[in-house]
Amino acid sequence: MAILKVNLLDRSYPIYVGSGLLSDRDLIRRFIGGTEVIIISDEIVADLYLETLIGQLSGYNVVSKILPVGEEQKNLNTVSLILDLMLKASFGRSVTVIALGGGVVGDIAGFVASCFQRGVDFVQIPTTMLAQVDSSVGGKTGVNHPLGKNMIGAFHQPKCVISDIDTIRSLESRQLSAGLAEVIKYGLIQDLKFFNWLSDNIESLLNCEKQTLTETILQCCHIKANIVASDEREIGTRALLNLGHTFGHAIETELAYTDWLHGEAVAVGIVMAVRMSEKLRWLNNNEVKRICDLFERANLPIMPPKQMNEEIFMRHMSHDKKVSNGRIRLVLMESIGRAKLVSDYPDEVLSIILQENC
Ligand code: NAD
Repeated sequence: MAILKVNLLDRSYPIYVGSGLLSDRDLIRRFIGGTEVIIISDEIVADLYLETLIGQLSGYNVVSKILPVGEEQKNLNTVSLILDLMLKASFGRSVTVIALGGGVVGDIAGFVASCFQRGVDFVQIPTTMLAQVDSSVGGKTGVNHPLGKNMIGAFHQPKCVISDIDTIRSLESRQLSAGLAEVIKYGLIQDLKFFNWLSDNIESLLNCEKQTLTETILQCCHIKANIVASDEREIGTRALLNLGHTFGHAIETELAYTDWLHGEAVAVGIVMAVRMSEKLRWLNNNEVKRICDLFERANLPIMPPKQMNEEIFMRHMSHDKKVSNGRIRLVLMESIGRAKLVSDYPDEVLSIILQENC
């Protein structure tokens, strides 16, 4: 088992990455302060792993809330139902909320933990590639609104993250690929060496080879933990983690959070940001080809769904959280391994990118 730390003073916490962690009784119990526990999961994950987790929690007062599957569940209604359940169970401030599942479950559970009785302890047990490399780390929690993705939420750091790499093996290949969009993102924003390593190892990752999986999760968490430690509330560098997300969220919102997976929308969004960076002559054509090639080898789309057009993109992007003084700020790339947040790009370049890619 490997351990990384997210350094945030009194809110610092460990990330455990390894095999067999869901059955590690001592580890699972180590971060539960009181006797009350609510496990939030979804139907697929609960079928696979809930029994194992509950098996480690004998002696605790455990309640489970199993959600239907999918991004459509990530809304205030779901949060309200979970809060009702916790109040009916007479849980108090010493309750620990455990998220067992992907990013959807993690974002909802974290938000519930942030607002139940003004904030209670929260443990992340991520079970998707995307959640193990990204969403479980950093304390962003929240839900969607029909007018925009992740529009309601809070920063609430977990007590720990427990990433059992064995869970990745039961993921559908489409879900695994969706997670790889965020993995590739880390190479692009900050680490050329990691991007090159991914280019050499993407097939091994798609085959869930243990060593490659472990190295990938550790490297992504290492990059994310450092960024979060330096900018917890996204005043500066943390925004770079949103490479491709402004375009991607527009796709997800237009599709009402159905059909396309978050990681697929992010993949297309990153490719659009990359093409815009090429138009600005920051990236060369060879680099753009290498990036598109890696997304395609990871079985990810590089063009938006047919129903998107410039007007639709602009409508949704103007609601993005990174809009500042009426200007859509975008994360673009200066080179592979170096990204920056830009607001002074020529409008016509964005317009051309939206037209050429729809
Ligand atoms: P998800 O939670 O919907 O999980 C994807 C699917 O995989 C679901 O059907 C789930 O039931 C299934 N699944 C989960 N674990 C499994 C396993 N081990 N074996 C088999 N099936 C399994 O989606 P996701 O891709 O994990 O997360 C996407 C969400 O994460 C989005 O809502 C996105 O906004 C959010 N996100 C949040 C952050 C953050 O910092 N908070 C960062 C990135 C993404």
